[in-house]
This record gives sequence, structure tokens and C-alpha cells, in this order.
Amino acid sequence: MSTTAPSAAPATAIASFDAVVVGAGFAGMYMLHRLRGLGLSARVYEAGSSVGGTWFWNRYPGARVDIRSLEYSFSFSPELEDEWRWSERYAPQAELLAYAEHVAERFDMKRDIVFDTRIAAAHYHAEEQRWHVTTATGETVSARFLIMATGCLSVPTDVNFPGIADYQGRLLRTSQWPHEGVDFTGQRVGVIGTGSSAIQSIPVIAAQAADVTVFQRTPNYSVPAQNGPLDPDVVAEWTANRAEYRAMLRTSPLGSIVDARETLVKDEGREAAFAEFERRWQQGGFKILGAYADTWIDPEANAVAADFAAAKIREIVKDPAVADLLTPKDYPWATKRLCVDTGYYATFNQPHVHLVDLRASPIETFTPTGLRTSTESFDFDAVVLATGFDAMTGALDRIDIRGRDGVALKDRWAEGPRTYLGLMVAGFPNLFTVTGPGSPSVLTNMIMGIEQHVDWIADCLDHLTGRQQATIEALADAEAAWVEHVNEIANGTLYPQANSWYMGANVPGKPRQFLPYAGGLGVYAEHCEGIAARGYEGFVIESAAA
Ligand code: NAP
Repeated sequence: MSTTAPSAAPATAIASFDAVVVGAGFAGMYMLHRLRGLGLSARVYEAGSSVGGTWFWNRYPGARVDIRSLEYSFSFSPELEDEWRWSERYAPQAELLAYAEHVAERFDMKRDIVFDTRIAAAHYHAEEQRWHVTTATGETVSARFLIMATGCLSVPTDVNFPGIADYQGRLLRTSQWPHEGVDFTGQRVGVIGTGSSAIQSIPVIAAQAADVTVFQRTPNYSVPAQNGPLDPDVVAEWTANRAEYRAMLRTSPLGSIVDARETLVKDEGREAAFAEFERRWQQGGFKILGAYADTWIDPEANAVAADFAAAKIREIVKDPAVADLLTPKDYPWATKRLCVDTGYYATFNQPHVHLVDLRASPIETFTPTGLRTSTESFDFDAVVLATGFDAMTGALDRIDIRGRDGVALKDRWAEGPRTYLGLMVAGFPNLFTVTGPGSPSVLTNMIMGIEQHVDWIADCLDHLTGRQQATIEALADAEAAWVEHVNEIANGTLYPQANSWYMGANVPGKPRQFLPYAGGLGVYAEHCEGIAARGYEGFVIESAAA
């Protein structure tokens, strides 16, 4: 292993590194930090013009984190934790981006990151035991280890409404929002989609625009953030007990403190459950997820939570027909990612905000001035697409990744992704995926999930380099057993009953498979640690080829 600056590899005359990392969001940034700490040379490639990943791209109005800011931050450096101050309970996008920039600055990361550069291909060369990584502009470098930190929600879905190219107004995507912002003052705005991105942005757009029409295909469950300035007493208490809190996050199911109880709805009854849900509704955010242990698995318990949510919508939304439309009916509560909002439902009480049910009248075509559903035409100055992402596999699919014998990862995953621990894939030595399919990732506080993954990968690389070993690869049997375990856990819950992006259901033709690991971060981390402690059970480790 070289511990110095990149050197030219004589055989191929291309720059070579110990590791290449793809993506400079929180995962790529922390990976770089750990690689440096191990004395490994590393280059990071990032498609955006700066760090921050999700928070670099998703600049739509109202974008903010749905995990408490204190929890949604790196824990690897106490100094970093001491010096950074969040302003709100749930940090807005600009502050999260400023945080990412601060981390990059503080740890002098940018000198190892190549920005504005997409990776097009990564091919494993078995004879060299190295990956050749090629950018979209044709530059190739080689690396012993390839770490994909490409994000779970980084590739927008393709939306091909007829006539969309002829639309003369402004077409915007929440996930590719203009850096200079958008002024909707006096404008007629259409918003397509009612997922988290739409639910956060609609109240803010409605506060500015003259007229807003929301096109809803499927209503979502949402809970209020109860956001506000971060209370100094809360910060002081968190700081005083930070080590304990961080340990709780790492061992908890969600990587977040939701005051989870073992209590069952079926034991407490509907009336007590409504009172408990109400208490947690007032606390805000994901606290409501911790109320009962059976809402994930028992349809009757889940139905009580759904009834509570429906009652809250009826309480807030004045027009009963609109309230009814906003109420999910065809999937269990919280089996799609629960949205966390600020004033979403109440926005529909404003006379200039309208809701269109696409189930009753689907969009037929865009027109030069707006769009037409099966029953009505609309004119818009701007249309916002909040239509979601090709989640968890999208970014990996879009890179031509080839392992042993030239096998393409996309082909290996044609029937759905298969990984060992969400970290490695049989046939793809030294390729690691941070928060990959089969890991808890999107079901947890992403930063805690990222730290766990990156630490495991870094410890693994340390293990290899310390023993002069060259490669590590998942065994097919171990991978198959993990896939089965992931499916078994998911099938024990109500999650698969929803047509969610967790299931790949939002992308036409994508295999239907529950993508993340639903066993919880703490349990998952125990699996990972146990496997490493048993000498990387389920992996084959090999020395350098002669
Ligand atoms: P999403 O949850 O997938 O929502 C996409 C919306 O667009 C859905 O309402 C979907 O309807 C609709 N849609 C998609 N294609 C459509 C079409 N052709 N015609 C009409 N409607 C269409 O995407 P998202 O809102 O971007 O959120 C994705 C995830 O990102 C979230 O679940 C969350 O994990 C994360 N996120 C987090 C935050 C946060 O931390 N605060 C904020 C935003 C996003 P159907 O449901 O009928 O498909």
C-alpha cells in the first residue's frame, strides 16, 4: 500500500490510488477522512461542484432534514461537535450545506476531491487486482479499493409526460433546484407529486405564489416537525450527555431517539393509543414512530395509527372533500417514508391552493402553457416536478460497473440487488457500497448509518493492509443468506404492502423487492461487528497475485 501521493502505475501509465471514492456527500467525505487516517492515498470524484450530496442538489424551498439536527450530524470528531451550532430543531438545507462545507474546510478535504466529474465506468482487472475507474470525460485512474458513496436518493426518476418538451413555462425539479433560487411572486404554479419533497415545498411556494395547484396521485402520511429555534437548554443537555446520546443512536433501530416503547396498541386499546399518538404529534417529527411496537407488524395496530392520522387531517383541513383526498387509504400507515412537514395540511385551507386527484383525472399531456388532465386544462408560469428518485440502486445502475469476468453489476442485479450486508457483492472484489441495498440506510438517521458503514469499511481495509492482503470479496453463499435474511425481516413487517420506493415500485420495470434492511441499525451493526470479529466470515480474503 502506498502511503504517499498518487504515483503512476507503470503497467498502465495511469494515475493510481489506494482507493477511489465516488461521491462527496456525507458518506464520501467521511470515507476520505478515514482513508487518510489509515495512510491510504485516495481520490474522490463528485458530480456536483461542491460537497454536500443531497444537500447540494435539493435546494427547493422548505427543504430541511427530517431528523433532529443535533442527531443528524457527524459524531466522529468531538471538536467538530463542539464548534458547530445548529439554529433550528430541524436544520434547513442552506445550513446543512454550510455544515458540509465547514467539515470539508476543517479537515482540508477538497484537495482530494475532483468536482464536476461523473464516473461513467469502473472495471475490475483481476490480473492487477485493481479497479480502473473512468470519468464521463474519459480520464481513467486505477485503485485497489473502490468505494461507492453515491447516495440512496441521488438519481431522479425519469418523467416523460407527453408534450413536456413543448411546455413554455418554467419547469423545475425539486432535486435539481436552481442555485440562485426561484421567485414565485404573483405566479401560477403547478406541483406534481406529494412525497416528502412536495410536502416540504408546497407550504413555502404557496406563501409566495398567487395560485398553487397540487397534482396528487397517492396521498402520503405526514406529521408536523414542530420546528423552531433550537432551545439553548436542549443543546446544553445534549452536550452534557452527548456520549451517551451518541451511543444510544448507534444501537437504536432508527439511529434516532424516538423514545421507542415496547407497548402494544392491542394491549392499551384505541383510546389510549389516540392519546399517546396525540402527545407525540405535539412533540413532532418521528417521535410518533416510537409510540407502539406493533404498528409495524400488526395490521390492526397499524389501522389505529392510520385512523389517528386521518382524524388529524380532518381536524386541520376545513373542506371535508379535500381532507378525504389527502387521507391515504390503500397502504398501511408509515410503510412509505413518513413525511415531516411544517404547515402542509393547513396550506390547503388557503383559497389560492387547490388539490387535483390524478387517480380521478390523470395528466394526459403537457401543453405549451401548462398541462391537461382528463377533465381540465391548467395554465402555469412554473411547474415543479417533485416526482422522486430511482432509490438505492439508481446511482449504481448508471455506472458501468464490471466485476470478475466482465460481469456487469446491473446484470447481476437484473432480478433485484443482492449484497452481503449491503456492503459488498460476490464477484466484485474490493468494491464497497456505503448505505447500499440490504443495509439499514434510508430506514435510519443517514449520518449514523454512514458512520457505521464507513467505520466498518475502514477497519476492513486496515485489517487487509495490516496483513498484506490484497483483496476481499463476498462469498456467494453468504450473500444469498444475507439476501434471504433481509427479505425475511421485511416480510415480517407491513412495509411490503405499500407501493413505495423502498419496494422499487415507483420505477416502471424495477424488480419489486424491499431494498433496505428493516432489522434496525443497532442489530445490523452487531451483525457487521460479529462477522468482522470472526475473521470476516462470509468473505474470502486473498493476498497479492504473484
Ligand atoms: P417520493 O416520496 O417518491 O414522492 C414522489 C411523488 O411524486 C409521489 O407522490 C408520486 O406519486 C409522485 N409521482 C411520481 N411520478 C409521478 C407521475 N408520473 N405522475 C404523477 N405523480 C407522480 O419522492 P420525494 O418526495 O422526493 O421523497 C423521496 C424520499 O427522499 C423521501 O421519502 C425521503 O426519504 C427523502 N426526502 C427526505 C426529506 C427530508 O429529510 N426532509 C425531504 C425530501 C425527501 P405516487 O406515490 O403515486 O407514486
